[in-house]
Amino acid sequence: MSVGGPQRGEPFPAREPRAPGEPIPPAGPLPPGEPLRPGSPVSRRIARAPQLARARPIDEHLIALQLPLCYPTVASVNAYLLRLKDGWLLFDCGSCLPPGWRALEHALRAAGVRADEIEVLLVSHSHADHRGLAAEVVSHTGCRFAMGPAPHPIIDALRDPKVPLDERVRRGHADGVPEQLLQPIVDELPAGDEHYPQATPDVVLRDGETIASACGPWQVVALPGHSADQVGLWNAARRWLISADLALPGAASFLEWGTRPDPHADQTASLQRAIALQPQLLLSGHGRPAESPEAFLRSCLEAVGVRLQQVSARLERTPRSAWELASPSMSQAGEVDQWQRALIGTRAVLDHLRFEGVASCAAGEDGVSRWSRVS
Ligand SMILES: [Zn+2]
Ligand SMILES: [Zn+2]
Repeated sequence: MSVGGPQRGEPFPAREPRAPGEPIPPAGPLPPGEPLRPGSPVSRRIARAPQLARARPIDEHLIALQLPLCYPTVASVNAYLLRLKDGWLLFDCGSCLPPGWRALEHALRAAGVRADEIEVLLVSHSHADHRGLAAEVVSHTGCRFAMGPAPHPIIDALRDPKVPLDERVRRGHADGVPEQLLQPIVDELPAGDEHYPQATPDVVLRDGETIASACGPWQVVALPGHSADQVGLWNAARRWLISADLALPGAASFLEWGTRPDPHADQTASLQRAIALQPQLLLSGHGRPAESPEAFLRSCLEAVGVRLQQVSARLERTPRSAWELASPSMSQAGEVDQWQRALIGTRAVLDHLRFEGVASCAAGEDGVSRWSRVS
């Protein structure tokens, strides 16, 4: 329990007036004259208007916000307003890139909540689409800022800007990434917003702690796998689970390789934990609530198992690099983001197979690690 954190069943302590913090770099339009490389993350940003933000009350104590993003493939992120006994808790806040704060402002207006009524910002995990705007929210509202326990990697260890670039290049080379693709694979993110302004959490929430609210306690649920530090919120009285990016439609969930020993096992356990809660309403970080939460969670668990089988089936006696083992999952269209996800997911599964005694790995004289099936 951190000093100043909430006690079980008690509301957050009243916020204190904030000293002016670090100046926040403007998240406004792109700087004039910035050279745009064809296909670079910056050039791929899509202008989406703040007015696209939406607020949808689930009931008088819980409002879902849909915040537009400038990402080419992920058009929006969900945030949630939870009514506390005094004020509101905002769960997640969106990216620092435009439409950024203006979109959140628009959503708050649509929800009928004033910015100064936000008492607490709780961020589910450190991916830029969920945490990127946190410093601005704290600055605009004076709210307290809460997260799960550190470490707070911004993304997987192959791309995290907190890891020095030469180390990421070394890791990419060790995974067998072709020389001409090393730079984009280890140093590009979909919109280039990984260097967002950092706000330090005032409150560290641990698994099982509860936050008192106007509709009963919300329990903090650790959900690692997609991200090392991901937390959700569970309201047992309503059977509502705010699950962030634990379970999303589409292919098997992104696994954040490199921070915890076995993200595949983490993701499996997090999905099983969510299934065991038997939520009646599953509120995700993207998209609409699933119609049948349990069936949806089970389909996500199945997809995780399918990826494990696919990678396992590719292992042979002849050693191959992670890149070679991931290649069958890479589309020929050549989207860097898609290749990165295939490589990182494969790498995480290979680590799991090594823990299970199914795979072994040996570094060659060329610095490339190659994986083979244990006979
Ligand atoms: Zn995420
Ligand atoms: Zn997300």
